[in-house]
Amino acid sequence: MPRRKPRQDRHSGSRPIGDVYGRTEAGPRGDETYIVRTVPGARALKSYRCPGCDHQITPGVAHIVAWAAEGGEDDRRHWHQGCWNGRRTRGITRRWS
Ligand SMILES: [Zn+2]
Repeated sequence: MPRRKPRQDRHSGSRPIGDVYGRTEAGPRGDETYIVRTVPGARALKSYRCPGCDHQITPGVAHIVAWAAEGGEDDRRHWHQGCWNGRRTRGITRRWS
């Protein structure tokens, strides 16, 4: 006989954001919703090019992964935390596609 979990189910109608994928914030243009995840330094194993400053994020550096909620995780970009925080004023240095 299967046991029922007393845990609360996912809210019907809402997307599994939050615990699963990270938090949401406004994107660089301010009119989009972005999923934002923090990558701790211990999990940063590769180097990435930050679209905020066009410099490298070196391995071992904690940073941000963000992507448009509409676009999906395939379009994610890695940002320095400071660049992500200042994205609205700095803009991005290159087209994303
Ligand atoms: Zn940067």
